Formats: sequence, C-alpha cells, structure tokens
Amino acid sequence: MKTLLRGGYVVSGRGCRRADVLIDGEKVEMLGHIPPELAAQSEVVDVTGCMLFPGFIDAHTHFDLDVCSTTTADDFESGSKSAIRGGTTTVIDFACPNKGESLAYGLDLWHKKADGKCYCDYGFHMTIDDWNESIESELDAMFDAGITSFKMYLTYPAMMIGDGAVYRALKALKARGGIAGVHCENAGVIDARIAELKASGLGADVVSHPISRPDYLEAEAVSRLLRIAQAAEAPVIIVHTTNRASLDEIAAARRRGQTVYVETCPQYLALDDGVYYDPDFSSAARYVCAPPIRSQEDSEALWKALRRGEVQTISTDHCSFTLEQKDMGRDDFTKIPGGLPGVETRGEVVYTVAINENKLSLGGVCRALSENPAKLYGLYPRKGVIAAGSDADIVVYDPGASHVLHGADMLSKAGYTPFEGFRTNGGVSKVYLRGQLQVDGGKVVGGKMGEYLKRGKCAL
Ligand SMILES: [Zn+2]
Repeated sequence: MKTLLRGGYVVSGRGCRRADVLIDGEKVEMLGHIPPELAAQSEVVDVTGCMLFPGFIDAHTHFDLDVCSTTTADDFESGSKSAIRGGTTTVIDFACPNKGESLAYGLDLWHKKADGKCYCDYGFHMTIDDWNESIESELDAMFDAGITSFKMYLTYPAMMIGDGAVYRALKALKARGGIAGVHCENAGVIDARIAELKASGLGADVVSHPISRPDYLEAEAVSRLLRIAQAAEAPVIIVHTTNRASLDEIAAARRRGQTVYVETCPQYLALDDGVYYDPDFSSAARYVCAPPIRSQEDSEALWKALRRGEVQTISTDHCSFTLEQKDMGRDDFTKIPGGLPGVETRGEVVYTVAINENKLSLGGVCRALSENPAKLYGLYPRKGVIAAGSDADIVVYDPGASHVLHGADMLSKAGYTPFEGFRTNGGVSKVYLRGQLQVDGGKVVGGKMGEYLKRGKCAL
C-alpha cells in the first residue's frame, strides 16, 4: 500500500514549495503532481497547509552514558522515543570506550545499548580518548562498520588526549576520508579557576560553573585545535559552539583556507546565562552543561552565523539527568552532572525562534536540522531530503498549532525541560520513519523499528 501526503508544502534547504508526496514502502516514490491512477491506489493523508520537513537529524546525543559516577536518565529507548516525538528520525550518538579499551569494544557496547531499543534510526560516532598504534590499527574496521566521524576532547581528564595525539589522529582520519568533532575548552586554566572559586568559598554556588569556564577559554581551545588542524591539513568539526569569540577564531581559520564545520545547540540559541543566577539551587543547576550557556550577544552572533552559513548544524548534545541527579552537586558545583535534555524539543524550539524572531529562513531551519547533518555525516541523500528514492522520513509540521512546553509532558526521563513554559509556533503533528507512521497527533504510535545506519563519508 502506498501513502499519499496531500496538500502540504515540502521544505528543503532551498525553501519550500507546494507538493504532494507519494510514499511506497520505506521510500519516497515521487513528489509534485501525483497521477490520479497512483493516487487511487494510495491511502490519502490530508496534510493541507502543513510543512513537510525531511526527518530531523540530531547528530549529537548521549544516551545511556556513564558519566560523573552516574548514568544519564535517558537510555536508547526513552531517548529515541523522545527524539521521534519531536520529529527527529535519526540520532547519531557517541560510542565511548574508556581509556585502555579498544574501539571495537566500545562499538560492541554501544550496539548492545541501542540495538532493538530505538524508535528512530541511529548511527554512532566513535570517541578517541586514547591514541596509540593499536587504536590506529582499528580505524579501517570502524569505517567498514559505517563509522566515519570521531570525537575528541580537549578537556576532561577521563577523555582528553594531548595536542600531539590530536594531530596524529586528525592525520590518520584524514587519510581515510574521516573527520573528527572536537569538544573545545581549555582544561588546565578551567581547573585552576575551579580551585580558586572553591578556595574563596564559592564551591556551592552554581554561578561558579559559568565563571570557571568563560567564553574565551572555549575560544582558546578552538584556536589551538584549528592550528593543530592546520598543521595536520585536516578538516574538523567544532561541536557545541557557544560564542562570538570562538566564531572569530573559526573565521580566521577559514580565511587561511581551512575547512571547518560548526555545530551549535538550541540552549545556546534560545537561552542566556541569566539561568545560572536563579537563587534556587535546583532551578539553576538544571542548566549546568559544558560549555555553559552564554550571553544574549553570543546567541545573536550564533544566529547571524547560521544565516550566513558559517554554522552548519544545530544538534542538541542531549545528555539528560534528573533533578535528583543534579542535586549531587548541591555542596560542590563540580559534582553537578553536566548536560541538558533537548532531543524532544529541538525542532519546535528552533523553528519557533527562527520564524517568530526572523532569525533564520525556513530553508535555513531545514539545512541546520536535516540537510547539513545528513551531508556532513554521510547520510545524504538517503536522509536529509524529501526526494524520489530517499527514505520516507517525514515530519508533518503544523504551522497553525501551538503549545506550551512542560517538563511533565516530556517522554525524556529527565523530568524537566530547559524550555519550561516556552510557547511554540506550530508543532510536530505526524512523523514518518521509513514510511511508517511513528507519531500522530503528538503521540508516539509506532514501535521500536529504528535501525543502525552505516554511514558514508562527509559530503558537505
Ligand atoms: Zn556531547
């Protein structure tokens, strides 16, 4: 049986146009004017006036991750369920072996966490938190397993590797057509500032979190990474970019001729650092993430960079903890588990701010949420576009709807949303994953049909 979505506007990176969409099995068969004899064989779904986006891709999630001596609230089941409800049909999570473990072990572990449990399709990036001949010898096997993107950290002792190791890893990845996303914050100075804040009696104050990790110490790490990438002659991705100073460093590297891709997240676009000044511990601690949420001016700079195509993707860095887990840091801000839930709300929050405040065009929203992540992470044109032959991953977005986001309504096990009380412009009404209706009327009606995606090489 075919499905015909009739009356909608198909959105792509170039804008939107009136077109009906015919789905056959898992694929889009054709779009535009559908011949009556084909329409007659189809189940017709009226989507009059709705936007049809290619399924959103969240290329930065952390499900079922052990961190800060606890485990994220969302595993692959609740995480992917909350993803699909928000229109995200693909997540790319970070497989994360510990130092001393092989990449193969990490990959196997992530398959065990995810396989058979997902409501949306999924792939993995591989974390490189150690660099030696043995790890390097595993890279070809990773590419064979469909892993073409990697993650490195310039901070966090458990995961960071030195500058020389970053340089060697970037060269080895480039030689294979791979790429790395890098968490850029200065490690040593941030640790020294944390020690100072604690010594001055501010160790229980949530505001110490953003104070210890200022924008320029992120920019310093961005600058250093980009100089290492210059030496390695390798492209890189700066993940969860938060501020103007970092964007300045990225612009300078591009002027030198370097290839740099940039990701940001909704929390850096729709919130500001005022959230840390709430006198109630729990109200402030829920926003602790790294890098921290920055100023209004930084948020403006990110939107401007999105408009100019200098920031390519908006992912979430979904890394959810309950408020009880956040409470572990009541006496010591460094023990607050860092991370926010967001996989469920990304599409609606980004659409709302983009359109209400004229920050980004509809095509720009589509590029940041779907098209560019598909291209950057080797999924295009199977994902990231509604076109003949593509997977029928489709978000039916009703621009006439509106609702208020509440933590209590979320499928995420975090139990709160950083966007509590946010009124959406429009809303996700239906979501199709490979032709199957997974969400209807804002409710998940489908099952755990998500499949592992072997990804190709970067094509952005
Ligand atoms: Zn992350």
